[in-house]
Amino acid sequence: MPIRPLPSHLIDQIAAGEVVERPASVVKELMENSLDAGARALWLDVEQGGLRRIRLRDDGCGIPRDELPLAVARHATSKIASLADLAAVTSLGFRGEALPSIASVSRLTLTSATAGEGSGWRYRVEGGRAAGAPAPAPHPPGTTVEVCDLFYNVPARRKFLRTEKTEFRHLEQVVQRLALSRLDVGLTLHHNRRQVLRLPAAGGDADFDRRVAAVCGEAFVAQSLRCDESGAGLRLWGWVGLPTFSRAQADLQYFYVNGRMVRDKLVTHAVRQAYQDVLFHGRQPAYVLFLEMDPQGVDVNAHPAKLEVRFREARLVHDFLFRSLQRVLAGARAGAGTAPAEEAVAADGAPASDASPAPASAALGLAAPPPAAARPTPGGVREQLAVYGALAAGAASLPAVPEAAPDMPPLGYALAQLHGIYILAQNAQGLVIVDMHAAHERITYERLKARLAADGITLQPLLVPLTLHVARAEAQRVEDEPALFARLGLELDRSGPEQITVRAVPALLKDGDIERLVRDVLSDVMALGDSARVTDSLHELLATMACHGSVRAHRQLTREEMNALLRDMERTERSGQCNHGRPTWRQFTLDELDRLFQRGQ
Ligand code: ADP
Ligand code: MG
Repeated sequence: MPIRPLPSHLIDQIAAGEVVERPASVVKELMENSLDAGARALWLDVEQGGLRRIRLRDDGCGIPRDELPLAVARHATSKIASLADLAAVTSLGFRGEALPSIASVSRLTLTSATAGEGSGWRYRVEGGRAAGAPAPAPHPPGTTVEVCDLFYNVPARRKFLRTEKTEFRHLEQVVQRLALSRLDVGLTLHHNRRQVLRLPAAGGDADFDRRVAAVCGEAFVAQSLRCDESGAGLRLWGWVGLPTFSRAQADLQYFYVNGRMVRDKLVTHAVRQAYQDVLFHGRQPAYVLFLEMDPQGVDVNAHPAKLEVRFREARLVHDFLFRSLQRVLAGARAGAGTAPAEEAVAADGAPASDASPAPASAALGLAAPPPAAARPTPGGVREQLAVYGALAAGAASLPAVPEAAPDMPPLGYALAQLHGIYILAQNAQGLVIVDMHAAHERITYERLKARLAADGITLQPLLVPLTLHVARAEAQRVEDEPALFARLGLELDRSGPEQITVRAVPALLKDGDIERLVRDVLSDVMALGDSARVTDSLHELLATMACHGSVRAHRQLTREEMNALLRDMERTERSGQCNHGRPTWRQFTLDELDRLFQRGQ
């Protein structure tokens, strides 16, 4: 075949292949356009999962009559005009590709009115071809875009569409993501004439909570910490799920950079690192987070679907995210406000007020026991109780349980030990139950970490240095940044164009898989400019040590030992969860107990 230029509507259809995959992608583009147009409210109506019809009305700035044909013309946009604009994009769109692409594979009607025009205009496009000039049509200020019969003219693409139900599920996910991106914009969604979502514009904190709860569930909001941290020209705010609210899937993770939803490696890494030693292996944290920063500092032109971004100062952003989240999570200590108990009672919905009392455990909403393998087993491993033994020796004068102590500590005073596993304590609110092994393990672990942080990593030279073949760029990095690797606890040399030599590693890790550790560190440093592998591995080791060094179940504790443990929990960061993310304690208020026994009803 001779070389020929492609006909323009074919170019649009090819472009549509990138932008428009299914009804959900149409909805994403339309909603982003409405938000870019400054809309305060969106009304979205879809039929048959969006396959038959998608109609979005907004109250944004509208499109003047003369610009209607341009709106569906390729590479025409009102959002950027120069390279300088591209370097600091503040809008969600800027490529001028969405409407022409969608129009080329559907029947599209654009009806719009600007505030100045008084009345509106309608413009129709079928399979990319204009069906006449704009015609007058009544419309309030704003825009309605209607997209019918997606892929009616591209049978090959239509084949890839799934059932109405599946398509709607995808569509709903997109709507949820965008609904969270702008809490201040109202939104309703109808499917086959039935209202499925109504989110009023949120103004204040309580509204925000309600909105997030409507999308992510009440439980998430109840069991997350609010975060608002600023520094280095960055602000991070939103909801951070408690480690005890972790999930099996990464399905409740929303991260926005300047209002744009992203799924970015650097972000994910920083978040994981912040959660790393409070989450049980394989569990996923839940969060809704907004990063606000100078648009100059982030390149949103890195990815066609714009899911990944490129931070100009990746290192700085990574550290800021990690530190902010770590600080927030560190606040989840025992007795510090967010008791993991609310969910215990809310878990089964209603308080136990009905006539037939449920079994006590169900009414209390006691968490299901952890898997057998994770339970502390009695005896066996050495018990290291020196700390508590010593405390107990000098603590004979400690009060037993002062009735109404004027300054009752948050976790109160121990009453008894239950079956050698739990500590029962009385505090101002009522009854506290502590899993003593889990709590002690966490405290020991935090202590070991603190000591490591204070003393630094001790390096151990390798008797026989280890030579590794690596990529040239990696070897170069080793040569360029010896200080970085030294800080991470690795002494590395470049010993050839594509070869490095490992001379020393952290003493604690010398018996581990050093090659794997070094390779992982290298690939982290290449991708992120830093690595947490060494610290992670050290922490993992400390966690194992903490587990073995902690009070075993079935060890009888004295009242004083138990009180000492409670005081330690109050002092220790992250002591609300054990090292595996399970709760270490629960609160049962007098009210809850009263309800359980139907007192005063
Ligand atoms: P982009 O969003 O990348 O600019 P689009 O193809 O999505 O490209 O839209 C083209 C242009 O149409 C936009 O730049 C904007 O000027 C206009 N437009 C699209 N949707 C709306 C809307 N809902 N309200 C006002 N203007 C709109
Ligand atoms: Mg757009």
